[in-house]
Amino acid sequence: MPTHRVLILGGGFGGIAAAVALRERLDPTDEIVLIDRRTTFIMGLRKNWAVLDARALSEGERPLARLAERGIRVVRGTIDAIHPAERAVEVDGERWDCDALVVALGAERDPDRVEGFRQRAIDIYDVTQGDRARTAIEAFAGGRLVIGIFGVPYPCPPAPFELAMLIDERLHVRGIRGAVEVFSPLPLSLPILGQAGCGSFESRLEGAGIGFLRNHQATAVEDGAVVFGETRRPFDLLLGVSPHRVPTAVAASGLTGGGPWVKVNPRTLETGQQGVYAIGDVTALPLANGQMLPKAGAFAHAQGEVVAARIAATIGGAQPTATFAGDGACFLETGGGMAAMVTGGFLADPPAVRLTDSSPEHFAAKQSFERERLEAWFGA
Ligand SMILES: Cc1cc2nc3c(=O)[nH]c(=O)nc-3n(C[C@H](O)[C@H](O)[C@H](O)COP(=O)(O)OP(=O)(O)OC[C@H]3O[C@@H](n4cnc5c(N)ncnc54)[C@H](O)[C@@H]3O)c2cc1C
Repeated sequence: MPTHRVLILGGGFGGIAAAVALRERLDPTDEIVLIDRRTTFIMGLRKNWAVLDARALSEGERPLARLAERGIRVVRGTIDAIHPAERAVEVDGERWDCDALVVALGAERDPDRVEGFRQRAIDIYDVTQGDRARTAIEAFAGGRLVIGIFGVPYPCPPAPFELAMLIDERLHVRGIRGAVEVFSPLPLSLPILGQAGCGSFESRLEGAGIGFLRNHQATAVEDGAVVFGETRRPFDLLLGVSPHRVPTAVAASGLTGGGPWVKVNPRTLETGQQGVYAIGDVTALPLANGQMLPKAGAFAHAQGEVVAARIAATIGGAQPTATFAGDGACFLETGGGMAAMVTGGFLADPPAVRLTDSSPEHFAAKQSFERERLEAWFGA
């Protein structure tokens, strides 16, 4: 039997960061178990690339099993139930007990919440639909190409706008202009930037000929049209971000306290249960301006390292002191090999977040963001 066991639920951004950081801090006799139903890790940012480039997924994919070389026990399985008060979980019917539990199960797509979405939209957050999206864009001969945000919150708020700019760039080359539009249920494109920041970003979209429909909550998708209550908007090609929710096992665990996302202390990532932490997209962290922390891998990563430090301190008999600072950035590719960054102090009062200029350096930073993490976690 190991001296201590830490269970990490989810081998995504946050779970891997937590597992790697814990392995560096804990005694070799302590066991770190990372459980995921998937066998590979791939960064979310590859999903937009996959819509445009057939090789994008395989280039960024890494086997989770490789983490075993670092002394992390990797278990492939589906987490059916979480019992926070007992610090136990059930994986494919088998019970696992532990000294500390990290819930890093992410946000799950929920395409069936909108009638007709599954049948008529291509889900751009579903890695398996990259080929379908790419083929449809290549065949698009003009008309209206709509990118719809069907529910909030969703991971990486800039991503649908990024995709709009990247697709628009491709269509320009083929002589198709002014075809792309994005709709959102929100009044602003990227609410964390505030009214002024969104104003300049939305002007930029407008300048590129990309339409933005605000306050548009889709209620259904029909053949050739998205339904918004009493009105309809026709489309020739519909790419969508489906609504998201917590995975079923999380919803049933009581950790959401009846709300849609897991409630945690924003600084310590502690849930109400001792020794049980939640990080990343599965959580909702309130900000000083009343908004929620955007769902981003950079935050899941930072939170993973914080919980690793806290768990290691507790196991070592010390008072945990590590806290989540809330600083971070999300990339927004703008085409032409350039990117901007949504960056700042998200937990400041009020949040101090801005959109940087678009530059080749920020695009290079996006590529390094992925490369450095993949190398640190999986080796060269
Ligand atoms: C197009 C796009 C672009 C993005 N760009 C950026 C970017 O530039 N910067 C950035 O910081 N973030 C970006 N993101 C967001 C980022 O991918 C997510 O915020 C991040 O993956 C969240 O990490 P996580 O660990 O919380 O969850 P995830 O990485 O989603 O991991 C959750 C894991 O839990 C597993 N799981 C779930 N339920 C179960 C179960 N019942 N049993 C077993 N396993 C289960 C899943 O298989 C998954 O591996 C982007 C996302 C998208 C879609």
